[in-house]
Amino acid sequence: VPDLASLSAALPAGVTGAFSTRGGGISPPPWDGLNLSQQVGDQPERVTANRERLTGWLGAPVVFADQVHGPEVAVVTAGNAAGPRSACDGLLTAEPGLALAVLVADCLPVLFADPVAGVVAAAHAGRRGLVAGILQRTVAAMTALGADPGRMTAVIGPGIGGCCYEVPRPLLDQVAAVLPEAASTTTWGTPALDLPRAAGAVLRVAGVACIERTSACTYEDDRFYSFRRAPVTGRFAGVVVRR
Ligand SMILES: [Zn+2]
Repeated sequence: VPDLASLSAALPAGVTGAFSTRGGGISPPPWDGLNLSQQVGDQPERVTANRERLTGWLGAPVVFADQVHGPEVAVVTAGNAAGPRSACDGLLTAEPGLALAVLVADCLPVLFADPVAGVVAAAHAGRRGLVAGILQRTVAAMTALGADPGRMTAVIGPGIGGCCYEVPRPLLDQVAAVLPEAASTTTWGTPALDLPRAAGAVLRVAGVACIERTSACTYEDDRFYSFRRAPVTGRFAGVVVRR
């Protein structure tokens, strides 16, 4: 589908990573665009059609995580791709041709690849998942499949920035006790969390060799869905596939 708008993720040769936008979908307001979530009140038929557009654009079947803001990850194979699988916030595979997706609207989609081991992963990392260690768990599970953090690239996709993610001071203190780099201030001067910066710090400590970050703030950039901007809205995807 040539009109499916997306940002490509800077992953190694042989690996395609992308972050979808609202563009290219059929859902009407308040989900207007390419809503990929079946759990936000949109009609199932429309979401299925939007997902088919993503599949057609990627040229590979897409496996979506059943996300719960936790630290669990699951290994996807051709044999288990159709599911069912336990709820998890990270998917990884060592097989080519299987696209892995996480859905977000302010939380961070993080895509991983070790091109030498041929292992790729997608993780959904919001405030709770980051505190619970979803990114460390993803790196560890990739390593168990033969990947090496020293060869990994991780791309932190569009999410709400430290500029806009206002939180009460006690919550800031609670998160910063675990993730000091998360402490931030909104552009209007109130306590905030900077999840992209915290994610980068976690990935550095985990030894990930190459860490890329997209600059888009979902709250400000209406190419993307933002739960903070509109509580009833769609979800966009971070998706990765090894060719
Ligand atoms: Zn912002």
